[in-house]
This record gives sequence, structure tokens and C-alpha cells, in this order.
Amino acid sequence: MRTSGPTSGSGSPRTSTGRCERLSDIWSVNDHLEDILAAVRPLEPIELQLLDAHGCVLAEDVTVPIALPPFDNSSMDGYAVRSADLRGCDHSAPARLVVTGEVVAGTGDPPVVGPGQSVRIMTGGPVPQGADAIVPVEWTDGGSGHGPAETMAPGSVAYGQVQVFRAPEPGQYIRPRGSDIAAGSVALTAGTLIGAPQVGLLAGIGRAFVRVRPRPRVVVVSTGSELVRPGDELGPGRIYDSNSFTLSAAAKEAGAVVYRVSAVADDARALRTVLEDQLIRADLIVTSGGVSVGAHDVVKEALSNLGRTPGHVDFRRVAMQPGKPQGFGVLGEARIPLLALPGNPVSSYVSFEVFVRPALRRMSGLPNPFRPGVRATLEGDGPRSSPPGKRQFLRGVHDSYRRTVRPVGGSGSHLTGALAHADALIVVPEHTTEITPGDELDVVLLDTPV
Ligand code: AMP
Ligand code: MG
Repeated sequence: MRTSGPTSGSGSPRTSTGRCERLSDIWSVNDHLEDILAAVRPLEPIELQLLDAHGCVLAEDVTVPIALPPFDNSSMDGYAVRSADLRGCDHSAPARLVVTGEVVAGTGDPPVVGPGQSVRIMTGGPVPQGADAIVPVEWTDGGSGHGPAETMAPGSVAYGQVQVFRAPEPGQYIRPRGSDIAAGSVALTAGTLIGAPQVGLLAGIGRAFVRVRPRPRVVVVSTGSELVRPGDELGPGRIYDSNSFTLSAAAKEAGAVVYRVSAVADDARALRTVLEDQLIRADLIVTSGGVSVGAHDVVKEALSNLGRTPGHVDFRRVAMQPGKPQGFGVLGEARIPLLALPGNPVSSYVSFEVFVRPALRRMSGLPNPFRPGVRATLEGDGPRSSPPGKRQFLRGVHDSYRRTVRPVGGSGSHLTGALAHADALIVVPEHTTEITPGDELDVVLLDTPV
């Protein structure tokens, strides 16, 4: 790995106001990200039904109102017994017990087990009073004088007997009341992301509703007069709008509710109207395209000077590749955060990963909005140069078993084919000017398995 002296660009000098000093007029990735994260807040909690809360972040500590399991129950199909009755039994000297009834999962009033007695019991059935262990059916002769489970009335008496070949320990195959979770304990704390097991736990303790941060609503707008909706006919000089789809999918993967708006032509006034119209349903707005220095960079034109629209959007150069031009600010009375991403498809996706995703995760209420990073050894052929002073995000394929990463495609920000075959971003630090196979680098793992 070759470096270029001091860590140029890895942290821009700051003024007393906390703002990045604009000597070089270039922001470090960290400063731009910090600026964004400082401006977004976790959304106000709401009460949601359990399945609607799936994928949201808990906004309350959940206390368990009942013990789990709520009663001692059997973990086996077998016989509820008094273990003292069976001491010393084996195949040569089986114990004989009278079977006085049957308990299934759901039985409300199990019969009492007296000395020399047993009750046939199914998994999940409440352990009858008097019994202190379960004998699995495999340790018995299967019983005689009683029929299959479904034909027997719970609570019926003395309709059979069973031979037992092996004695259980006291308490064996009984799941004691509260052994999963004790009543009154905190099952889940605020800040927990609700996945399937958490939904299950909440349901298991009887919660129908839960207080969570809602999913952020994201409006995605792509700009460019060249853009055609996929499915429509492509005229000369036109291209399909892919960014609004990539960004919508990425926002969805980040846990957002997404509203994708049809591509807006390069017309500043039209764009401003669209954005103003969208404010009503947005917690965050993402635009793509029109942020560099071209003659038709309308996002910059429309948002640098907002006219009578409240808000302020800054356009910056950020020390990264791809994704140098970035816009960030707030729009409307409600000060809705807006991130204006560059139009090149790889730039816009990488910018989403680096800036928008953490912002959305912060709004969702996650204590840590970042993806887990891993270190991996670079594979591939030959050294690759990296621009000095810029953090480079290369696309790669990660091998979690070998802990290696292999770049796919070049560094061109139009290379969507390679992006679609990547499952990781390889992070080349600002001061590194060349990377060589064998180098250890930070890798960000993406959602896409390839
Ligand atoms: P811009 O940032 O608007 O100058 O766009 C930079 C490059 O990205 C140009 O080649 C655009 O045609 C392309 N581009 C911009 N927006 C999109 C989009 N939504 N989908 C695909 N390519 C785009
Ligand atoms: Mg454009």
C-alpha cells in the first residue's frame, strides 16, 4: 500500500463554528456525514400493530406482564409421574403405573397424580399436580388399555396402565413456569430493531401493539431531460432512468417507506414545484443528478436559491471517489432534510450508502446507524492507483470465509454492470495512492448477495 504523506482530506480543519474551513473548498467524507447526521433526528414514536412494527425500532422498554411459560409444562410426549415411584426401574424390572387420564396442550384442569399413578401428557401440556417429572413415551411400553390421544377425554380416570423402563430425574422434561422469561422482567429495550424473533416474543407475551419509531418516508426524485422510464421506448440520445429505481430499492432495504417520483426534466422551476409538492409526504428527500457544474445542473440551480420556499441547501465538493459533488440541506417549513446526489449511477448508489443510509437509520432510531465494517485482504491482479486526498469506494466481491475481497470492474462511475456483481464496497483511505493484492482494507458489506 502506498500513501501520500499526511492524511490529506481525512478530516478537514474546522472553524470555531464547527463548520468545515473552506480553504480548499472541499469537505471530508466524515465532515459531510457528520453535518447530515447532526441535522436528522429519530422520528416521533407511534403505536403500531405487531406486524406493522416489524422492521421498526422499539421506542419503549417492553416489560413482561406474564411469566413465560405461564405454567410448568411438558417438553415431551410421555407420562407425567412422581419420580419417587420409579426409582431403580429398568428393563428387567419395569415399574407399573396406573394411567388416570390425559393432558394435552390447552388442557385447563389436569388431573392430580397420586402415588402409583401417572397421566398421559403431550408436549406443552400443563404438568398435573403431584407429578414432578415426565417420562418420555420412548422409555415406556407405550401404555395399554387406552387409545390414541384424540380419542381420550381429558380428566378421565383409571383407563389404563403403563410400564416404565427408566426413571427420570426429578424435574426432568418439565419446562418450569418463568424459565423462559420471568414476569416483570424487561424483555426488550428501547432501541431494539424488531425482527422476526422479536415479533414472536412480543406476540408470546400477549402484546398486540407496540410503541416504535415509524419507518422514515423517503421521496426519491431523479432529474435529467435524457431520462426515460423503463418500459417506454428509448429515443436517440436518451437513457433509462435507473437511479430512481436503485435509490428506491436501497431506501427500502434501509427500512424506509419509499415514494418514487417520475424523473423530472432539467427545468429548475419544474423541479422546485415537484419538490414542494412532495414535502407533505416526506421525512427525507433524495434527488439524483444535476449537482455538478454543467450548464443544466438544475438541482443546484433550483435549490441554491430557494426563492420564497423556506430552507437552505448547500452544494459541496466532498473528498471521495465516486461521488464528489453533493448537496445537503433542509426544505420547507418542516425543514425536511434533502440530500442531492450526483447523477452517475455508481456515484449516486455509493453516495446513498455513505450518506443517505446512515441518515435514514438514524431517523429510524437505531443507536448505531452504520453497517458493520470488516477488514479483508485485497485479492486480484496487480496494483491499483487511488486518487490522493480522496476516499475511494471500489466495488468488490467479499469472501467471508477467506476474509478476502476482490475488486469488480474499474473505478468508472458509470459501471453499473460491475456494481450489480458486487456485494461490498472496498474503502481506500484518503492518503492511500496505491493498493496492492495482499493489502488489508476496510470493507462495507452490502445487502446484495452475489
Ligand atoms: P448529472 O449528474 O445529471 O450530470 O448526470 C451524470 C451522468 O449520470 C449523466 O451521464 C447522466 O445521463 C447520468 N444519469 C443521471 N441521472 C440518471 C438516472 N436517473 N439514471 C441513469 N443515469 C443517470
Ligand atoms: Mg443531469
